[in-house]
Amino acid sequence: MSSTADLARARRVIAQHAKTSALMGVDFVNVKPMTKAAQQTVVSAANTPRNPDAEAAMRKLRARYEREKPHAPFIKEFKNLVWDDGDLNAGLMFVGEAPGADEDEQGKPFVGRAGQLLNKMISAMGLSRESVYIANVLKVRPPNNATPTTEEIDASRPFLFEQIKIVQPRVIVALGLPASRCLLHSNDSMANLRARFHDLEVEPGLTVPVMPTYHPAYLLRSYTPENRKKVWEDLQMAMSKLIPQ
Ligand code: URA
Repeated sequence: MSSTADLARARRVIAQHAKTSALMGVDFVNVKPMTKAAQQTVVSAANTPRNPDAEAAMRKLRARYEREKPHAPFIKEFKNLVWDDGDLNAGLMFVGEAPGADEDEQGKPFVGRAGQLLNKMISAMGLSRESVYIANVLKVRPPNNATPTTEEIDASRPFLFEQIKIVQPRVIVALGLPASRCLLHSNDSMANLRARFHDLEVEPGLTVPVMPTYHPAYLLRSYTPENRKKVWEDLQMAMSKLIPQ
């Protein structure tokens, strides 16, 4: 449990980090890393246990998914289920679209090129990969990495929402349009969705702010300073929700 002083210190660390990157005019690629001590301050204030049953509940949910196979009518050929990665106490949750070839191979989300860029984004935020929680809308790889269809998303959404209920993150970053649209039941463009929070009522009493931003795979294809700046702005806004008030 963090004291009020710990929380205030973590908020100051985050604000100072944002100020430094703004003063230096840098984005998440070249921002100066936080010191280990500063990182520790942020992680221990952000990742306070909220659900004592999280581990058992997540195991049960995954087992239910394995029994029900909601992807089965749509996706038949894949190697591994890609369920999640990270800390079930994480204050920050990332939601991606669907596993690609590397993820299918390893059974872990975001381990390919897009995952390496996501790791850079996470460490620029002063966090470690292990200290955040990562899941995808689709839990198995669609053939040829096709964009998930509405039917596939509808079949998978209930499991993603159950994951969110278990982790109870303080803030969610939705990576790319399919994840953003899935979470927000929206058909809007990324340009309209990003750079602001959307309140997601996951269940009565649990409303989580969602920040949509560009998917790292899109960034890799369009690695411009403008796009990186936009993503860094979105990530910094997400950081501002990480520490409880
Ligand atoms: N892209 C995603 O959306 N998720 C992954 O796990 C990997 C790449």
